[in-house]
Amino acid sequence: MNTPTPYLRIQHLRKSFGSFIALDDISLEIKEGEFICFLGPSGCGKTTLLRAIAGLEQQEQGRIVQAGQDISTLPPQQRDFGIVFQSYALFPNLTVSENIAYGLANMRLPRRERRQRVEALLEQIHLPGIGDKFPGQLSGGQQQRVALARALATEPGLLLLDEPLSALDARVRLHLRNEICALQRKFGITTIMVTHDQDEALTMADRIVVMDHGRIAQVGTPEEVYRQPATEFVARFVGSMNLMPAEVLDHCSLMLGSREVKVPMTLPVCERGTLGFRPECAQLQSAPFGLSSDHNLVLQARLDHVHFMGAFVRLEMMLDEELPPIHMDLPVEQMSSLKPSVGESLWLSVPREALKFYP
Ligand code: ATP
Repeated sequence: MNTPTPYLRIQHLRKSFGSFIALDDISLEIKEGEFICFLGPSGCGKTTLLRAIAGLEQQEQGRIVQAGQDISTLPPQQRDFGIVFQSYALFPNLTVSENIAYGLANMRLPRRERRQRVEALLEQIHLPGIGDKFPGQLSGGQQQRVALARALATEPGLLLLDEPLSALDARVRLHLRNEICALQRKFGITTIMVTHDQDEALTMADRIVVMDHGRIAQVGTPEEVYRQPATEFVARFVGSMNLMPAEVLDHCSLMLGSREVKVPMTLPVCERGTLGFRPECAQLQSAPFGLSSDHNLVLQARLDHVHFMGAFVRLEMMLDEELPPIHMDLPVEQMSSLKPSVGESLWLSVPREALKFYP
């Protein structure tokens, strides 16, 4: 049978708790084998959306279709997913093997096959030989790998991960990121992971769904979300971005604080907005020679602080006392050749394609 694409289709989903709208008209399509991250600040509704897909939360409106089947009203036990929670949620009185085999009990598999499957999974999560241990004898990272094996044991169509790394320390978290990605690719399983950690989403996801107040703010590849943030909210939430309030004067000039500035783009018709660019997208010079304002935003600003960050140098530039400082990230070598001093007035230029304007 041909699997229809998309594998998962969410249509106009709505969920409220009392008068609070947690999910507001969410529509989304996920392809088979994709790794999707729901990313957003606390309370934006990402866990509620994951739980609705699992059937652990019942929506008031909307449909969820998985592999061509409308699952909107199915109870969780009749849906085809494996789930991993932040808190491992292993059964403490069962051994690791019994935990992993738990979901297999209803599958009427012969004992031998069940044992083989558990052993194969223990190999896959790089923990062979720990099947007889109890969860309490394992580290947090090991327990989470076991939880992952348990979720994959029934070979579900969908893997749901609810902040699976956030209870772990930084080193284990980084290591497990790679392991989850490797397992996901190996199994080719359609995966949705909830996270509030942008680095996690940027490094792990095929596509990121950025959520804001129960709505989808943007869906895109990590690169799209980083380079072309669709809204000011996404620009603020993903990566760091210089964002300056601006008053629009005409189609190509605006006021930044008390400065009138020409921009190398056509501005939308509006009174005010926010001009933004990433700290690594600006170039620095000690004089304005060769800078064309047809293709670049050109600004003169005072260097206020220099922070050595190891791999690069972060500069804090003051354009106008009314505005937040502009951050620039420069390679260390460029700093050594420019040798700018604090207090000096410098020229920075930002190419047109790196500029964003949000009305
Ligand atoms: P977090 O990372 O903090 O869990 P989230 O984006 O996953 O954030 P949700 O857990 O989906 O957010 O919650 C969205 C909103 O819905 C929050 O304001 C939360 O307080 C509210 N909410 C979630 N579950 C319930 C519930 N059972 N009863 C009442 N309000 C709820």
